[in-house]
Amino acid sequence: MEGDLALHSSEATDPVVVIGAGLAGGLLALELAGLGLPVIVVDGAGPAATPLSYGGIPWWAGPPGPLDSWMAAAPSRWRRLEARHGPLGLRSCDLVLHWPAAADAAARQRQDGVLQQVEGLARRHLGADQLQHGPPLAGAAGPAAAAASGPGGTLRLSYARVDPGLLAAALPGALRAAGVRLLREQVAAIEPTRAGWNLRMGAGVGGSGAALPARQVVLAAGAGCRALWPSLPQRLRVSWAGALLVDRPPLALPPGDTIVMPLLGQRQGLEHRSAQLQAPELSVDVGWAPSGSGWLLGQSSLVRPDPGQGPPPDPHHTEACLRQALAGLLPALAELPGRFVQVPVSFTHPGLPLVGAVAGDPGLWVFAGFGGPFALVPALAPLLAAAIAGDPAALAALPGAAPGVGGG
Ligand SMILES: Cc1cc2nc3c(=O)[nH]c(=O)nc-3n(C[C@H](O)[C@H](O)[C@H](O)COP(=O)(O)OP(=O)(O)OC[C@H]3O[C@@H](n4cnc5c(N)ncnc54)[C@H](O)[C@@H]3O)c2cc1C
Repeated sequence: MEGDLALHSSEATDPVVVIGAGLAGGLLALELAGLGLPVIVVDGAGPAATPLSYGGIPWWAGPPGPLDSWMAAAPSRWRRLEARHGPLGLRSCDLVLHWPAAADAAARQRQDGVLQQVEGLARRHLGADQLQHGPPLAGAAGPAAAAASGPGGTLRLSYARVDPGLLAAALPGALRAAGVRLLREQVAAIEPTRAGWNLRMGAGVGGSGAALPARQVVLAAGAGCRALWPSLPQRLRVSWAGALLVDRPPLALPPGDTIVMPLLGQRQGLEHRSAQLQAPELSVDVGWAPSGSGWLLGQSSLVRPDPGQGPPPDPHHTEACLRQALAGLLPALAELPGRFVQVPVSFTHPGLPLVGAVAGDPGLWVFAGFGGPFALVPALAPLLAAAIAGDPAALAALPGAAPGVGGG
């Protein structure tokens, strides 16, 4: 029924309205509530990236610069969050990076360069016993093996992860316990008013069509941010990511939680090139991660020249490409029964997320476009929460993340 979601006048402070209850919106809402601010989270329960994530916390992989120390703090931030809000799925785990036999000297040189880079980043934070070289994954010799210029291999490193299935199940309860109000509504539009903002809820099936006034609104809607506020910087873009959900482990590995990823992943490079694309491009990375009682297998990424979300790519074609890439590692992987799922994911092509006030729109904030969000979000959410609560210096350590209007 159409109506007003007006707030009780007894509330001393206007609630901050956060749009999106995924990793970004959920953790930001917990920080805002921790500062004593009333918070409403609005989420339309549409496709969300967080439950389909591998949930790896690349805490030692931050690029040299201000983000490095924030990322390195991620495990302790997650432990602090769990101490306050109960289990959120934090696990210690290993990361296994794998690479095939190199087809020629140039490929070998490239592998060696990336391997050195990864080892250099990891050694800043990990002891020698936390990095172990090993043989290629079983059966992963691949077609290049015959002409190989260098053998394949693996590098096992100490890592951490948040189980995405457990996080998605635990977040709504943690939000409620922290006093956050959770509205299951799709925001159709944000309109400026004299007093701030008016959120117009969707009026379709299941939508109330109601209006929610607010002085402070945070866009933490992942891939949905641009549709809500089209003048966000062009560097905020959307990819479509897909993975197979399978119920048994893809390969026998030593016991313990393990995330497996290719040493030379395609996704990051595709995101970096996104602003130069002339046509949609699909990449597939062969890896897997535990999730709940099952596993996520492979990761497809479709990036289009347009920064908006667009429709999901053809699932049959994308799943076929993903299975073909899995077969390149081990034919049996391609045959595993599973459910293929695709979700839109926000990213920025230079890699730095959008964190802060939207220039020229007082009271409108954005928290989106993360690379390595399971490391960055728990570290940056307290900074943004402090800024929203009125600390003008809270985001000073992150100059490049300020979201201007339009442009790059
Ligand atoms: C296969 C895969 C593997 C990944 N692996 C990793 C990894 O190992 N480590 C890592 O750090 N990251 C990884 N990622 C990326 C990471 O999962 C995402 O970047 C992150 O979860 C995004 O969180 P978010 O809160 O910004 O967005 P989302 O989780 O997408 O949440 C956005 C929410 O906003 C809601 N919403 C959108 N529009 C509206 C609207 N108009 N009104 C109301 N609600 C709305 C949606 O319903 C959704 O719930 C991976 C992603 C995928 C798909």
